[in-house]
Amino acid sequence: MRLKHVKGAEEYIASSNHVVQDYKEHKGNWNRFFANDNPVHIEIGMGKGQFLMEMASLNPDINYIGIERYSSVLIRAVQKKEELDLPNLTFILMDATEICEVFAKQEIERIYLNFSDPWPKDRHAKRRLPSRQFLERFKEILKDEGQIEFKTDNKDLFAFALEEVEPGGFKLIAVTHDLHHDEIMNAGNVMTEYEKKFSALGNHICKYVIKKNI
Ligand code: SAM
Repeated sequence: MRLKHVKGAEEYIASSNHVVQDYKEHKGNWNRFFANDNPVHIEIGMGKGQFLMEMASLNPDINYIGIERYSSVLIRAVQKKEELDLPNLTFILMDATEICEVFAKQEIERIYLNFSDPWPKDRHAKRRLPSRQFLERFKEILKDEGQIEFKTDNKDLFAFALEEVEPGGFKLIAVTHDLHHDEIMNAGNVMTEYEKKFSALGNHICKYVIKKNI
């Protein structure tokens, strides 16, 4: 993803109450943070947050946390959220490699990976969010009955992701290489910003749902 630096984004994010600043201090206590017992779902690499804002307004009984590593991207989500009333959604500015320092074992019920960066060079494979290295981290914070949902239009990344499921400690629950024409998997689908952009170009959207292999 090409990144345009937004002047003042770091300061804006650092003083926003839509972004959790002391996020490592909530490890194991995210339900206390939201002041309810509702399940916690996270999106890693949320970009400008369109998907999560729609999910949070459709599902007030689910707590959502969006994770994004660039302030120049996150600021767009924060500015949009300021116009909305979504107490069940918050954001964290961080790199996903830190995830196990932020969430306790089995604290999370669902993880969304939407249009993750492909990192096409082989030597960067472990930076891909559906890589086994990340799946092992995600396995730790996910509840036993929890799920990961991954969508992309990138066929190479999807083929790689499918190969990583088992070595990462997961099993496949559902898969499609053409989500928008799969009646069952597309039911209730909320499109992300990238999904709208790439499906408008005629690209097919791939999706898998995986569960811990225990
Ligand atoms: N999920 C959005 C969508 O589908 O429209 C945005 C997709 S964009 C291609 C991928 C986003 O993931 C970028 O904003 C990027 O900064 C973020 N990202 C990539 N790797 C990350 C990581 N390790 N930790 C946090 N965010 C990451």
